[in-house]
Amino acid sequence: MQINSTKLLETMAQAVFANAEELTELDSAIGDADHGLNMKRGFQAVLAEKDNILSKPLPEAINAMGYTLVMKIGGASGPLYGTLFMTLGKYMKEHPSTTEFGRSLAVAADAVCSRGKAAIGNKTMVDVLLPVAAHIASGTATIESVRHLAADCAKATVPMKALRGRASFLGERSIGHMDPGARSCEILIDAVCDVLAEKQ
Ligand code: ADP
Ligand code: MG
Repeated sequence: MQINSTKLLETMAQAVFANAEELTELDSAIGDADHGLNMKRGFQAVLAEKDNILSKPLPEAINAMGYTLVMKIGGASGPLYGTLFMTLGKYMKEHPSTTEFGRSLAVAADAVCSRGKAAIGNKTMVDVLLPVAAHIASGTATIESVRHLAADCAKATVPMKALRGRASFLGERSIGHMDPGARSCEILIDAVCDVLAEKQ
């Protein structure tokens, strides 16, 4: 996989900015209406740190991005996205094969599960991250299959009852709404797919 880190960072940030309102709306249904704002603040900080982050090789750049996100995003999603990107940066190669990248992403997704004590089916970002990482690691993934899986997994959180995070306080009333973190993961995965699609 050849990934242009400048494009990657800018495309992810633009995707977050373009969808921040939707994320906040989703969070207003089952949380405290700040997920879009949190993600926006995090990626604004990443852009502000761009020169420093992009001076590093890709794995270190992704690690530094995770560090910036932990420092700048308030709430639950900061430490969780921070853990995701910092762990991914720590374990990925600079020029990984698709399968190798998937395996590193799976390690990072597991780290998010440990950090949040979340498992699949709990209605969190993990419901998108884990299956997508496993799919990429399987060696059968295409850009389109990754996009579809991420969208399907985010949609699949709608009928779930939240068992982790703020939404779990609502119990049964969390049913019928998409998890904001699952949707932000889908948005970020789509952005990575956009960058990879441009290369081909
Ligand atoms: P907060 O809940 O503190 O307001 P955000 O609104 O930014 O933080 O993020 C909420 C998202 O974070 C949820 O939609 C969910 O996907 C994710 N999340 C919250 N708690 C956990 C957890 N324990 N494990 C995994 N993901 C979680
Ligand atoms: Mg929130």
